[in-house]
Amino acid sequence: MRRLRRTKIVATLGPASGNPGTIARLFEAGADVFRINMSHSSHDRMRELVAAIRAVEKDCNRPIGILVDLQGPKLRVGTFTGGSAMLDKGATFVLDADTAPGDATRVNLPHPEIFAGVQAGHTLLLDDGKIRLTTIEAGKDRIVTRVEVGGKLSDRKGVSVPDSIIPFSALTPKDRSDLDAALDAGIDWVGLSFVQRPDDIAEAKKITRGRAAVMAKIEKPQAVHRLDEIIDIADALMVARGDLGVEMPLEKVPGIQKQITRTARRAGKPVVVATQMLESMISSPVPTRAEVSDVATAIFDGADAVMLSAESAAGQFPVEAVATMNRIAEEVESEDTYHTIMNAQHAEPEATGADAIAAATRQIAETLDLSAIVCWTSSGSTGLRVSRERPQVPIVAISPNLATGRKLSVAWGIHCVVAEDARDQDDMVERACRLAFKDGIAKAGRRVIIVAGVPLGTPGATNMIRIAFVGAEAGDD
Ligand code: PGA
Ligand code: MN
Repeated sequence: MRRLRRTKIVATLGPASGNPGTIARLFEAGADVFRINMSHSSHDRMRELVAAIRAVEKDCNRPIGILVDLQGPKLRVGTFTGGSAMLDKGATFVLDADTAPGDATRVNLPHPEIFAGVQAGHTLLLDDGKIRLTTIEAGKDRIVTRVEVGGKLSDRKGVSVPDSIIPFSALTPKDRSDLDAALDAGIDWVGLSFVQRPDDIAEAKKITRGRAAVMAKIEKPQAVHRLDEIIDIADALMVARGDLGVEMPLEKVPGIQKQITRTARRAGKPVVVATQMLESMISSPVPTRAEVSDVATAIFDGADAVMLSAESAAGQFPVEAVATMNRIAEEVESEDTYHTIMNAQHAEPEATGADAIAAATRQIAETLDLSAIVCWTSSGSTGLRVSRERPQVPIVAISPNLATGRKLSVAWGIHCVVAEDARDQDDMVERACRLAFKDGIAKAGRRVIIVAGVPLGTPGATNMIRIAFVGAEAGDD
């Protein structure tokens, strides 16, 4: 089975889609990676979903990626007498360490770490940004604020502190326990929420130890400011527009999306654009023009993947939402403008053998109008460097490791095939041709270009380019 687009699709599973039948239909409609959101899933539920996805993977014999998204340190206020309080513009409102129920003058803030990070002048956003407070005075167990934008605040609503650095790690005790369970279940990607600094990713990597790749969700201004350091250590980025749009003015989000996608593409690390892409499809079988345009923009940005959240997890039309993204991607990518834009944003190769070879390969493949770039890649790194080139010809990545195939399912343009390592160079060339033929990527009589590191299985040794004819005999077995 072969997709006719390069941009990948991530579909979040939830009550509307978390059953084996729907997972299979989502995959057929175009989902390449499934996301399990630990804010809403128990360990048992997560394991059930992983088993269902792996069953679909086995049936269709294509590697499928699983992204487990950790909730992260989501801050919340305490409770109110009567369940809520009305905050009036201009009034003084206090957040403190007292656990007694709150009223219109104060409420408990059950996160002692916040008091240390908030300073006079800092903004506090409550309930997805609907209520805005400015700090007048911050003490060790008390923050006195002025209400800038008021409204009704009810029990346990979320609090964002976009100006403050909160001295806690991106992994809460719940995240640690969710992460252990996810690693035991053999997932491929872990999403880290509310990353603030590169150390947050280092901390997660100490636990994953290569068993899963780490995707840093960029949803705080602190992370936007340190993007270059974060991309160095993360395996991938997500433009998490939901919380970004709460923590920063909404109109800044499109520019930040461009900045994040460009940074990730330059580094050659996958980048996923997420949240509200086809939001109206939660309850409607057709999207708005603006949503179609939004998905198209992410594709024109050269994002590796576009993501569905509630549309596929809890909406009425999960399969239609995936099919819609699939159609938009196929159409956008078939336009001349798309290739012009990809070329204009092309990142120069870094001074490494792998990049020099990836760049040369793309040029040869496009100059000679070859049918595919086939790369042998055991860890996936050669595949990612070729994907970074955003070539016009299809990329086939052959790896002996199923885990590599699953991980690369999020990466732009890569069609992964899991197959045992080649015996020697002839076998490598012959099998590359045969696999490209079998998966419908190269016809008999056409040529492909093969990239590998010889001897095979030596990481970081990309050093071979071969051009080969796909013979008629390729289809013999
Ligand atoms: P979430 O992350 O859905 O886990 O909040 C994505 C976002 O914030 O956009
Ligand atoms: Mn978020």
